[in-house]
Amino acid sequence: MIRKLLRRVFKRGEPTPHPVEIIGPERHGIRPEQVSPGARRTVDTLQQAGFKAYVVGGAVRDLIAGIVPKDFDVATDATPEQVRALFRRARIIGRRFQIVHVLQGAETLEVSTFRAAHDESTLKDEHGRVLRDNVWGTMEEDAARRDFTINALYYDPATQQVFDYHHGVRDLQRKTLRMIGDPRARYREDPVRMLRAVRLSAKLDLRMDPTVQAPIREMAELIENVPAARLFDEMLKLLFSGHAVECLKRLREEGLHHGLLPLLDVILEQPLGERFVMLSLADTDRRVREGKRTSPGFLFATLLWHEVLANWEARKQRGEHAMPALHAAMDEVLDTQAEKLAITRRIIGDIKEIWLLQPRFEKRAGRAPFRLVEQPRFRAAWDFLRLRAESGEAPQELADWWAAFADADNASREAMLKPETAGAKKRRRRRAKKTVEDAEGAVPPAPTLRSEEAPGGTSSFPPAPTLRSEEAPGGTSSFPPAPTSSD
Ligand code: ATP
Ligand code: MG
Repeated sequence: MIRKLLRRVFKRGEPTPHPVEIIGPERHGIRPEQVSPGARRTVDTLQQAGFKAYVVGGAVRDLIAGIVPKDFDVATDATPEQVRALFRRARIIGRRFQIVHVLQGAETLEVSTFRAAHDESTLKDEHGRVLRDNVWGTMEEDAARRDFTINALYYDPATQQVFDYHHGVRDLQRKTLRMIGDPRARYREDPVRMLRAVRLSAKLDLRMDPTVQAPIREMAELIENVPAARLFDEMLKLLFSGHAVECLKRLREEGLHHGLLPLLDVILEQPLGERFVMLSLADTDRRVREGKRTSPGFLFATLLWHEVLANWEARKQRGEHAMPALHAAMDEVLDTQAEKLAITRRIIGDIKEIWLLQPRFEKRAGRAPFRLVEQPRFRAAWDFLRLRAESGEAPQELADWWAAFADADNASREAMLKPETAGAKKRRRRRAKKTVEDAEGAVPPAPTLRSEEAPGGTSSFPPAPTLRSEEAPGGTSSFPPAPTSSD
């Protein structure tokens, strides 16, 4: 009993109280209308009901940095139950970290209750990772619990004040990423913070404070204790941040990429593989920045392709038939990857579709090309082929031929067809007895591995409607309205 009381008095390892700095619009520069209507409504509803409520975290940080936030989070002193009771469309989600999803029109707001600092009663795993985190506290305690100073900012749209407990605005203006508290301890509690440090410094072009940066290299292996599903979420955020190339560069500098995409380690050491992955990431970055649709399936298909190629090639060398060998190679690569990163089933489906269409581009005689262009995933698969050609792994001529074929009318298409080779005919006849998939999809010559540089020129493919799957990574909110254009 007394121990409990003492623990409460000398609370939770936070020795000095942090005086809050209240910052007005002349210094933070946020205009209330930059906050999404749904976030403003949510804050207002909570405040009207007598609770404290603020826009918090990444959105405030981004607005001060002049970036359009991708979503808005709200922090409040109302408990999850109290929050849920105030909104028609709201539900409590999460276990380790309970929050409420409030739906406002097309927007989903994450509303979290102020968290108390950790103490020794906090449930942790044997490496010190916090397992459960639902003890409510004050706003000051909540601020101390956040990861970086620039993320511990609270904005009240009604008064237009920013509440800053850890000099986050100053750090943002000085372009420095500083941890709240001792970085080593904070990484131990949650190793994902190492990834966040890399992602946020890349996104906002910040310098990591030496105390933030130094421990990462030695603590990197703690990432292995993080559940695969959470790592996957974090990787999606990183890869679709619009700064994936920079993030990956920094991940490698910090020695953090090893545990994440184990296959990427190997791939990045092969010249063609590295070129392919980098082209793909740069393409994704451009699309994200232009507000175009992106597809995790497409990106992961590119990240893992060279591993599939190597595995496939080895199987064919051992005498396995091309298509079964490709299927087996795909499964093996995806299974190995899944141990670290829980790629969702739906994305796995997208990845496989793109890979399986690749050998079919080799077949440019007979009816096969006509069937291939009609495939719903043709555009994504062609896009993939284009990157392969650009990286020098597939002939540029092949990608250009398909661009022209897709664009041509029927008569021109007929004229473009390559003559059937004797070998191809023989193979086809043999296969005609087998399954439909074999007959159609199995055009087995391995993609030509070319050693010379790709000609680099872009192909003449016309702007297409949606090339890639609809799936947007992670985000649920649609403020600003999700752009629908694509190239
Ligand atoms: P972005 O939305 O640009 O990806 P963010 O900082 O908003 O970046 P979120 O995952 O949306 O990232 O988290 C919202 C806020 O929650 C953060 O700004 C931070 O205050 C807090 N937060 C998120 N993850 C952690 C963590 N691992 N440890 C401590 N605080 C965290
Ligand atoms: Mg956020």
